[in-house]
Amino acid sequence: MPHTSHRVSQFTESVIRRMTRVANECGAINLSQGFPDFDPPPALQEALAHIGRAGPHQYAVTWGAPRFRAALARKQTHFTGLPLDPDRHIVVTCGSTEAMMAAMLTVCDPGDRVIVFSPFYENYGADAILSGAEPIYVPLRPPDFAFDPAELRRAFELRPKALILCNPANPSGKVFTRAELLQIAALAEEFDVFVITDEVYEHIVYAPHQHTYFATLPGMFERTVTCSSLSKTYSITGWRLGYVIAPERLIEGVRKVHDFLTVGAAAPLQEAAIVGLEMPDSYYHELQAAYTRKRAVFLGALDAAGLTYSNPQGAYYVMVDVSAFHQGDDLAFCAWLAREIGVAAVPGSSFFREPVRHLIRFHFAKREETLRAAGVRLLRLRSV
Ligand code: GLN
Repeated sequence: MPHTSHRVSQFTESVIRRMTRVANECGAINLSQGFPDFDPPPALQEALAHIGRAGPHQYAVTWGAPRFRAALARKQTHFTGLPLDPDRHIVVTCGSTEAMMAAMLTVCDPGDRVIVFSPFYENYGADAILSGAEPIYVPLRPPDFAFDPAELRRAFELRPKALILCNPANPSGKVFTRAELLQIAALAEEFDVFVITDEVYEHIVYAPHQHTYFATLPGMFERTVTCSSLSKTYSITGWRLGYVIAPERLIEGVRKVHDFLTVGAAAPLQEAAIVGLEMPDSYYHELQAAYTRKRAVFLGALDAAGLTYSNPQGAYYVMVDVSAFHQGDDLAFCAWLAREIGVAAVPGSSFFREPVRHLIRFHFAKREETLRAAGVRLLRLRSV
């Protein structure tokens, strides 16, 4: 039999999604793969039920249903101040996962280099391999996950094609300050590099931290490919609705890649999600408030269990130091934690380029009662 491609031998299946299967097998509370255990806003559920009968049920325009793109352009213009044109600046994708892949395939040729901050969301490693790009890792050092500006400059001196920026960051919970983003912008300008952003947690930021959209920095719109999704903002991870926002000359490439990867995101779901995009500002305030409470409940549970962690500034993940419980293999530790303690987490090694084995990632996009129940189980760690 012939061999399968070299490409697919270079990466493993997702550890995040594997941990969900482990959690399901042993009945653990699943704080590994980040998705809610609560429903989306009722208005979205009602719209979906209505569209089930009324349609559309056939393909939307490849790069996004016109009404969806118009609503998205209005919403993102409202939050970013950028004058976005739904016909020139937007491609609707199957989640931000496809958006990132399409962005990488549009920007990178095989052999190009891309800067990736480490720890990083594991998809970026596979995105780089699939597009033939070679990552240059720049560490974000725990516990505060700051980067060393000199180290970042040295990475730019290796002449990368693009930098990948996840902000607010998965898994670290870091929200890059405006000053940090301006440093990145200055280097992107100086070395003529594209910036591909993953901003899926744009609306999950804890006071006093604030999200700055990279594309809004002076001169940056022209070189930024913004990727995001509706998954986290409206608690609809299964709807797989994401998007790319970029200047026209980049969007042309993204449209082509997207067309041949997936043809389009699900037409009925685009239609149903419009009510989400039209939510008033109060919706986003309530979302922040709800996640701020979830963070407080879960961090309180970690404190009670005697666990130390980096306080997340945004997104819904927390990196926890488990060096008191194991010295070696964090995958084995997470398997043990799921089986014996009944709470599933993601081993930190799946996010770090560096040999980090003492951190694990929990997410807290769960009902407060689920988080409390996880807290009760984690208390058992005290007697281990
Ligand atoms: N972003 C989520 C996480 O990091 C999962 C996303 C996914 O599995 N597609 O857990």
